[in-house]
Amino acid sequence: MNTPTTRSDSAARAWVRNALALLEQEATRSADTHLLRLDFPGFPDIAFYFKDEASHPTGSLKHRLARSLYLYALCNGRLQPGQTVVDASSGSTAISEAWFARLLGLPFIAVMPACTAPQKILDVQALGGQCDLVEDPAQVHARAAEHAANGACHLDQFGLAERATDWRGNNNIAESILGQLHREPQPEPSWIVCGVGTGGTSATIGRYLRYRRMDTRLCVAEPAGSGYVHGWRERSRDAVASRPTRIEGIGRPRVEPGFIFDVVDDVIEVEDAASIAAALQLEELLGTRYGGSSGTNFAACLQLASDMRARGERGSIVTLLCDRGKRYQQTLFDPGWRDAHGLDIAPWQQSLATALATGTFTPPDGSS
Ligand SMILES: *Cc1c(COP(=O)(O)O)cnc(C)c1O
Repeated sequence: MNTPTTRSDSAARAWVRNALALLEQEATRSADTHLLRLDFPGFPDIAFYFKDEASHPTGSLKHRLARSLYLYALCNGRLQPGQTVVDASSGSTAISEAWFARLLGLPFIAVMPACTAPQKILDVQALGGQCDLVEDPAQVHARAAEHAANGACHLDQFGLAERATDWRGNNNIAESILGQLHREPQPEPSWIVCGVGTGGTSATIGRYLRYRRMDTRLCVAEPAGSGYVHGWRERSRDAVASRPTRIEGIGRPRVEPGFIFDVVDDVIEVEDAASIAAALQLEELLGTRYGGSSGTNFAACLQLASDMRARGERGSIVTLLCDRGKRYQQTLFDPGWRDAHGLDIAPWQQSLATALATGTFTPPDGSS
């Protein structure tokens, strides 16, 4: 026999309904992100497109993910009125999740490694979120689980990113990009390039390309030696990074559960110094500073384009501008910080400029 619905049940259900309405209103107020086009003298037969995910209200592609994670928690009955929300995040996700928590009137805790860029911590706090800083980055998942055991709703970006997003449509990132390419000379790109943090973006793009029966291939751009680089090559979920990276949001030390190996056609490794040089190059080209992982993507695009040109192929390449550069002012974009961390970007700046002019991307002498 069914238990009769109590008044508190129906009040909770009304709250969920209202929360879903608030999320829908937010989506309706927000515009889609731009797809920017650039052409380079060295690549007369290849068009480059950049999906500007930094233009979301919370400044990164994590705006999409955070919205999906809240919808997923609400529709699964996991999020109740007044409940504290928690997640482990190196920053960008926490900023977007804090923003949506404020929209829904919920307390929010971000579990972060203590070494996270200071600007990101300030951004979460400015949105009313609380930052629980953990000395050992490997402990963030355990700490988030502790908060969940004490009654918080764990949004669980690493566990749920791949399934919380509607990969068949609903203007997911892949559907949005392909719709915006509709009137271009090459509406079906040769490659789409993205990095991997939770794995959500690459899973959505890879699945959508198959679903729409397209030939477009998916290339993952990752910091050299990351967990995903080894994991994809060895098809091993137990792989770990052979080197740490300074590029936030991607280059995880381990293979997260949301990374789907089988939809990825190629993985390109990018040195941190090359990622930073490429981010600065993007600033020169677009007049806006983007974060390190956008540089990683751009460097991988130039590698793919250089290879396409060498084979005499024409076509188009699409990638993502993942977040705003302002978050890394005191780290990646501070020459003193770079010197202190042994990152010499000048030779890479030269290589990138040569690639744009000649269509051949060659790493500087002495780098791998
Ligand atoms: C999360 C993130 C990525 C990677 O996206 P996923 O969908 O999590 O794989 C890339 N760049 C930045 C800045 C990010 O925050």
